[in-house]
Amino acid sequence: MKEQHFLKRGILGLSAVCAALVLMGTTPAEAKGPLTTEAKTAVVQKDALTEARINVVLKEAYEKFKNDQNGKNADYIKALAIVDSKMFGITLVTPDGKVYEIGDTKEVVSIQSISKVFTAALVMQEKGDKFMQEKIGVNATGLAFNSIIAIELHGGSASNPFVNAGAIQATSWVEAKDSKERWAKIYANMDDFAGKKLGFNEEVYDSEVNDNKNNQAISKILDARGRMGSDPLEATTVYTKQCSVNVSAHDLGLMASTLANHGVNPKTGKKVLDSKYVPKILAVMATAGLYDNAGDWLYLTGTPAKSGVGGGILAVVPGKLGIGVVSPPLDKFGNSVRGQEAAAYIIEKLGINPLAQ
Ligand code: GLN
Repeated sequence: MKEQHFLKRGILGLSAVCAALVLMGTTPAEAKGPLTTEAKTAVVQKDALTEARINVVLKEAYEKFKNDQNGKNADYIKALAIVDSKMFGITLVTPDGKVYEIGDTKEVVSIQSISKVFTAALVMQEKGDKFMQEKIGVNATGLAFNSIIAIELHGGSASNPFVNAGAIQATSWVEAKDSKERWAKIYANMDDFAGKKLGFNEEVYDSEVNDNKNNQAISKILDARGRMGSDPLEATTVYTKQCSVNVSAHDLGLMASTLANHGVNPKTGKKVLDSKYVPKILAVMATAGLYDNAGDWLYLTGTPAKSGVGGGILAVVPGKLGIGVVSPPLDKFGNSVRGQEAAAYIIEKLGINPLAQ
């Protein structure tokens, strides 16, 4: 299959054509005895993430899914319902900072639950990975992201920092003298992952902050179980703010690439997260990043990812690629339909499923 694509595109330049000629008639699987030097070179070039290959696959993904009308914008936060459902942008960023993008990659949506990754990273950075595991948890709930019953079913624990309960808890544990400082740290940390000052969506914030009683209830339950690091309602407000930060596919691609690059932002060179915590965050993303669909997603792609009800999604192929997609219509789990389709297609066609390396 990969060989077919390799030959079909025919745009990989002279060296790749030479490589293909070496491969013709003798694929590595069929070759008898050790590979010749030329054949070894051919195998390396076939699998290399060349600019041409990335561009071809990116365009294919965009064309293939741009007209998919499945899914529906989130509407339980009223401001999300009116976001342009046609918006579709894909950005890929390599760990050395090369950016490949197509579509509406500069249009912004609110980051929503993708923010949970970065606040969890901040808490891990400040308090360590054991704290994350013991105080918040790193297991899937098997229930919806805003579930209250999940807390009761798991002995008063949120289970992980990517469901609302665990995310509000994580926010409450960011070390700060008051909620103003806590918010400033959380916001600045997201800026560092993106390598720029991110905007704030007042409309989404106003819409959600007046309507977040379910999250307030969650924070009170966790407080009653002794799990909150600061005032529960204040933490819920800060959490609602972090969800209201604006991101584009371009920003998400860069944020993902910082994780793909062991915690160093490839654009600014800034170390944003200790490299020892990167696999821990990625493990939780693999377990619970796409909530109740996380198993199917991992089965399909082998890739840690995180979605938000604003329609953004990021996926991290460690050491290889950061993927950011924005497309507001969601599936029944609250994950972007085209976001998942495009990211899965790109991972498959580039042959970069981390579990297949
Ligand atoms: N702010 C949203 C909420 O608390 C985030 C949910 C999400 O993106 N899954 O419901």
